[in-house]
Amino acid sequence: MTKISYTKPSISELEISYVEDAIRNGWGENCYDYINKLEKAFCEYLGVNYAVATSSCTGALHLGMAALGISDGDEVILADTNWVATVSPVVHLGAKPVFVDICTDTWCIDPKKVELAITNKTKAIIAVHLYGNLSEMNELNAIGEKYGIPVIEDSAEAIGATYQGKLAGSIGKFGAFSFHGTKTMTTGEGGIFVTDDKLLYEKVLTLSNHGRDRAQPKQFWPDVIGYKYKMSNIQAAIGCAQLERVNDLVLRKREILDLYKSELANLPLTINPVQDGCLSGAWMPNIVLDSSIKYLKVEIMQQFKAREIDARVFFHPLSSLPMFDSVGNGIAYDIANRAINLPSYHDMGTSDVKLVAQVIRNVIEADAAREAELHG
Ligand SMILES: *Cc1c(COP(=O)(O)O)cnc(C)c1O
Repeated sequence: MTKISYTKPSISELEISYVEDAIRNGWGENCYDYINKLEKAFCEYLGVNYAVATSSCTGALHLGMAALGISDGDEVILADTNWVATVSPVVHLGAKPVFVDICTDTWCIDPKKVELAITNKTKAIIAVHLYGNLSEMNELNAIGEKYGIPVIEDSAEAIGATYQGKLAGSIGKFGAFSFHGTKTMTTGEGGIFVTDDKLLYEKVLTLSNHGRDRAQPKQFWPDVIGYKYKMSNIQAAIGCAQLERVNDLVLRKREILDLYKSELANLPLTINPVQDGCLSGAWMPNIVLDSSIKYLKVEIMQQFKAREIDARVFFHPLSSLPMFDSVGNGIAYDIANRAINLPSYHDMGTSDVKLVAQVIRNVIEADAAREAELHG
């Protein structure tokens, strides 16, 4: 029995050749070559004006929010269903996270709940495109405009996803992507900040480099206390190769998601929903069991474990973590109870996808047969 991994990067000879070049030649006056190349190519790919490569998506979010001036006493609205990386910069900046519920049909932040949560302290709304699904950006941007509040896109999980023809990450005030080893495009650890706002870009650039303004003629002269969230040239070399292959990387993710959908058709469960006019980034396939069979989650997880299939649980609501106070976001709590992340990675074979789906189907069908016998 071979183990089926949860996620795994796709590293080709191209990545290896760029890294070899970076490690041999990318020093001294060449030490920013791949970083500059990656930032330029990412702008072209996404259709935005400015990008700053960072050491992580968490860092990119932190820089962007710091540049927006978010600080003590401010409030930032975000979905309760989320990875902790989205909220930790909010807390580090001294602001208060306001967790709102998600929509059942996107698993992303509910714009109606956002509007209800706005106060005169609200300084930003963060839209996370969960698992490659898409947040309702038109509604969120309309609310943002109405109240003069920027909408941030945490696109860590959504490279390649499109919302009405626009790539995720290019629609809000700024976007942040992750190139962590589990993500569709990777540099090992890494991320990128993107925006069309020149002023915000300049602020982020300064903050990302210990507060040193690039227009400052004095050497070793920071003008403000900043951060150190830069990407290395060697990581950027991996990123340049991955970006050349990004359409292929996203395509395979979509194929795997579609295969799960067809293999699991006609079962009482939902797989990553997507609105009309959107294309999923398909980063991570998930099943959400119908409420009538939610008790089968434990058994499916046990069967996966027995077959060395590395599946994981859905994100816990952030408000359920010990650092925060629980709030009544019923959908976020309910879906987390019924959902499982399924393995997906570029080199995952079709037979492995079918095997994972078969495990799920077997558990559900065996249960249905038992029920039929009991209730005749
Ligand atoms: C992975 C992830 C992040 C953090 O990315 P890092 O590069 O690990 O900092 C942020 N937000 C979401 C939604 C993520 O999935």
